[in-house]
Amino acid sequence: MYDYVIVGAGSAGCVLANRLSEDPDVRVLLVEAGPPDTNENIHVPLGYLQLGATEVDWDYHSAPEEHCDGRRIVLPRGKVLGGSSSINAMVYIRGNHLDYDEWGVAGWSWADLAPYFIKAEDNERGASELHGAGGPLPVSEERSHNRISHAFVEAGVEAGLPRNDDFNGPTQDGVGMYQVTQRGGMRASAAVAYLRPAMERPNLEVLTHMQVNRILFDGTRAVGVEASRLGEPRELRAEREVILCAGAYNSPQLLMLSGVGEPEHLAMREIEVLLDQPAVGTNLSDHPATQLVWTTPEPESLLLALEPDALSEYEATQTGPFASNFAEAGGFARVGDGAPAPDIQFHAVPLQIIDEGAKDPEAHGIWVSPCLLTERSRGSVRLASKDPTAKPIVHNAFYSEGDDMQRMIAGLRLALDICARPALAKYCADPFNVPAGDSEEALRAHAARTTFAIYHPVGTCRMGTDAAAVVDEQLRVNGLEGLRVVDASVMPTVPRGNTNAPTIALAERAADLIRHGRALLGPAAQASADAEPAVA
Ligand SMILES: Cc1cc2nc3c(=O)[nH]c(=O)nc-3n(C[C@H](O)[C@H](O)[C@H](O)COP(=O)(O)OP(=O)(O)OC[C@H]3O[C@@H](n4cnc5c(N)ncnc54)[C@H](O)[C@@H]3O)c2cc1C
Repeated sequence: MYDYVIVGAGSAGCVLANRLSEDPDVRVLLVEAGPPDTNENIHVPLGYLQLGATEVDWDYHSAPEEHCDGRRIVLPRGKVLGGSSSINAMVYIRGNHLDYDEWGVAGWSWADLAPYFIKAEDNERGASELHGAGGPLPVSEERSHNRISHAFVEAGVEAGLPRNDDFNGPTQDGVGMYQVTQRGGMRASAAVAYLRPAMERPNLEVLTHMQVNRILFDGTRAVGVEASRLGEPRELRAEREVILCAGAYNSPQLLMLSGVGEPEHLAMREIEVLLDQPAVGTNLSDHPATQLVWTTPEPESLLLALEPDALSEYEATQTGPFASNFAEAGGFARVGDGAPAPDIQFHAVPLQIIDEGAKDPEAHGIWVSPCLLTERSRGSVRLASKDPTAKPIVHNAFYSEGDDMQRMIAGLRLALDICARPALAKYCADPFNVPAGDSEEALRAHAARTTFAIYHPVGTCRMGTDAAAVVDEQLRVNGLEGLRVVDASVMPTVPRGNTNAPTIALAERAADLIRHGRALLGPAAQASADAEPAVA
């Protein structure tokens, strides 16, 4: 018997396991479907490209995407301690202040969340008004120093974008080098940053290789989970709460497997309905991204890792290509009419990436990817079967709404402009995967042929104060007791940037809500909590 059963040891789950077990009187269980994070490709940053479709990846694909030539898009998700933070590209971005203010949910504005970004952060630049030092999450300068990445920044400036050496500072716009979640040239996943320091606590238990199949209820109160390890079923009981941290695909999957969802869909899968909640699994949003790839005659890219000196350099100083997070440089720009904040983000990788890394590079090269930050299209997560081991059906529905494709085309044009500027032109001499021409038709065809999801799914268990929201502003599942969702799935819309730091900040605040409850709520949220009495 535990007080809290946390399902999923990803970015959010590791934060909660640490923060909740700070109270020695509380018994916490963290349940993770994947293995411990012992694979060294997790920890040496360059190992990232070796992790796809291995035992630490759920290895999902989308359903055929109508506006992307009917392709099934690869959707990597971490299945290991640390979750997706153990297989991600380590870019440290908080998003734009507007993102949180636009959510319009009491307690989750930028002003509410900023203290949690700072509390989480251990930035090697030190503490300042906008940054934290001494928190659990290491944030450091990128240590690979590939010349192509610096050339991308110079070319962006030549194209008219401002230089920005802190995308998490006063303004997000511009080009620069990313800061990364690393310490000493090693990946700092949520497991490294939050879980390891708490592992020795006697009131925290961590079970790996343990997949949760469904939530157990007594009436409408969650009382535990049914899980299995190597086919052996187990029941794990929670006296206070079950907290789903299984991520934007698996948290809605678990709710639906437990009878919480749209009744017709559940009936089709022969699942008894516990709660009619049509919003579960809807409102999926991600960042569609396209890609431009060039072969370069200059021997400069991350293929330098194959040189005999590279490994010894990494072993001696944890610098050089093995320390690379891949997306070393990038930036933010506005392409939509009157955009109030950036709507395009660039990731520039000094490597010829083929098929998202599924094939080895053939030569030195560069990959530049513009992604759309504020997509209006919405997708869904649905069950393929009532079998908990069946992969969910994910529809991104990219480019199905509004002007998403037009803005992506504008982003592609800007990326092509940057790549043609003098600072970068010599690295972009030989096209490997670029549009057939510069007409709108050619750019649209290129986007349809190369778009992928840049791994930032959110929204499938949306929080809100309206009746249709899956969770309330305290992240409690509406209509049920003893059950919360705390992960990227509760974000109403995807922030303008990468989603690891936002998920960690969200989980930091959720931990405070769970531990200190009502005291943290502002007046509006307190009024709404009074209208719907708290159960936790
Ligand atoms: C390839 C890749 C690159 C990325 N690059 C970046 C980047 O550079 N910067 C950035 O900020 N963000 C990046 N992201 C996104 C970021 O990592 C995620 O948004 C963030 O980790 C999501 O956190 P989460 O807690 O919601 O889910 P996750 O971290 O995915 O955690 C969910 C956990 O739940 C477990 N789980 C799921 N179902 C069950 C079950 N039934 N039983 C038990 N356990 C279960 C999973 O195995 C996993 O450990 C990237 C993601 C990927 C996949």
